[in-house]
Amino acid sequence: MEWGNSEKGKIMMVGFGPGPKEHMTFRAYEALKEADVIVGYTTYIELVKDLIEGKEIYETGMREEVDRAEIAIERAEEGKKVAVVSSGDSGVYGLAGLVLEMLREKGWTREDGLAVEIIPGASAINACASLVGAPLMHDFASISLSDLLTPWEVILERIEAAAKADFVIGLYNPASGTRTRQIIETREVLLKHRAKETPVAIVKSGYRDGQTLVLTNLDEMLNHKIGMLTTILIGNSSTYVYDGLMITPRGYHTKYSLAGKESAAGVLPDTSHVESD
Ligand code: SAH
Repeated sequence: MEWGNSEKGKIMMVGFGPGPKEHMTFRAYEALKEADVIVGYTTYIELVKDLIEGKEIYETGMREEVDRAEIAIERAEEGKKVAVVSSGDSGVYGLAGLVLEMLREKGWTREDGLAVEIIPGASAINACASLVGAPLMHDFASISLSDLLTPWEVILERIEAAAKADFVIGLYNPASGTRTRQIIETREVLLKHRAKETPVAIVKSGYRDGQTLVLTNLDEMLNHKIGMLTTILIGNSSTYVYDGLMITPRGYHTKYSLAGKESAAGVLPDTSHVESD
């Protein structure tokens, strides 16, 4: 979606999906082509480098989010078209919110400010789910285990609430080289509410070079490598593994017979309410 006046310059928040361009949206692809200036974390710039040759590029390190947003706003205020690249979706633990917050501080409005376009992308939770089956078929919660910006007690409360309410859970930022305690405590809380056989998928570098997929369970999940490039998907109480795929039923198996075309009651099920998904 776009707001503001592009004659005053433009910032495009581009979520490019998990990695390679075939999983980028057409609009994200076009936006990278249209941009004069590209701003992003070095790893992300690297992932899209063949699409942005010859453009003015600002690469920054991991913790320099505010610098990145500031450069983007400055260059846009000079009348340029600036693309800020994020992996996945820029509005999911990305820079879209930070840019809007900073523009707000400057008094930006949709009516007469520079143009801002937020371009959606497939977030890691969606991309990683697609690699291991269909684990997100029922209600899910996404939780980041990074306590850099959120106190750990708050994160733990959310994990506990999601576990108790039987949400499928996607864990972003589960661990880093120095941050290793969080995933251990997370598992302990999950085990208070879920069976140790609950399926768990550990996806590292989904759709990128070095991709690894592990299907395990709550009991054994810590026997596998978990780091910065990993997303973890925890099943709900109905999730099961079939032929190496993680499946969360939507409830059809209780409502309808899946083996034949007819429902247990002998009439075709009305699926019109699910077709739009
Ligand atoms: N805006 C991004 C999330 C950034 S937070 C999005 O919408 O996906 C960074 C975290 O995202 C990582 O720690 C990891 O948990 C997850 N992540 C991002 N890309 C990933 C990928 N290709 N494979 C697995 N996890 C990924």
